[in-house]
Amino acid sequence: MNKLYVVGFGPGSREGMTIQAQTALNSADVIVGYTVYTELIKKYFLEKNIYSTAMRQERDRTEYALKQAAEGRDVCLVCSGDSQLYGMAGLALELSAAYPEVDIEIIPGVTAAFSGGAILGSPLTHDFAVISLSDLLTPIEKIYKRLECAAIGDFTVVLYNPSSKKRYDYLQRACEIMLEYKPAETICGYVKNIGREREESKITTLGELKKIDVDMFTTVFIGNSETKLINGKIVTPRGYRHE
Ligand code: SAH
Repeated sequence: MNKLYVVGFGPGSREGMTIQAQTALNSADVIVGYTVYTELIKKYFLEKNIYSTAMRQERDRTEYALKQAAEGRDVCLVCSGDSQLYGMAGLALELSAAYPEVDIEIIPGVTAAFSGGAILGSPLTHDFAVISLSDLLTPIEKIYKRLECAAIGDFTVVLYNPSSKKRYDYLQRACEIMLEYKPAETICGYVKNIGREREESKITTLGELKKIDVDMFTTVFIGNSETKLINGKIVTPRGYRHE
């Protein structure tokens, strides 16, 4: 069987992996992924053949996975969190046009918005927007526009890829856009290394978030106008009526 599973393995801990993801990984002949991700999960799959490549080699990595599957191996192409969201599922399907003999199965995983949101409380109880601040594949003007529209729509906003060495001030710029529409007291939070060693979370306000340095392993949450703090947890109400 020529099978390629594109697997979202969750935030990083074994407990955060779905049984479906574990089953696919256990059955694979080869596990393919970005080095940081294969390093995270290889301790759970010691017997496996692992092929890893550096960041920004997504196309080569996906081609390799498809070729391995075309040769008859069961292959897992792994992504952290979910396999669609800023993951490899879309690219694998795009490139699969040249490999009709390969059957692709997309296996979802718990994305950082939910694993991180759960650590902070329940910031994502209502409509929310997920925006990546990485301008590697998206023009920065479009990112700014999306931030602005999400703020105008009073969405709770989750920011992925909030920072990198080159983009050290992007979170600050995102906060400045948000501050044009949202008050500085808006409840915010961030979680670093979710489900991994040195997990760390903080609750703050939009005014303060602007001054904070975060790294690329951080997910940032910006509340909507109803988001509040209850006993140290962020809560965005669903709006159930109090009978
Ligand atoms: N497919 C992944 C997202 C990949 S984009 C998912 O669904 O979660 C990479 C970004 O995701 C990071 O910059 C960070 O913002 C977020 N992220 C992924 N895993 C994380 C983790 N364990 N802890 C904190 N943030 C994480």
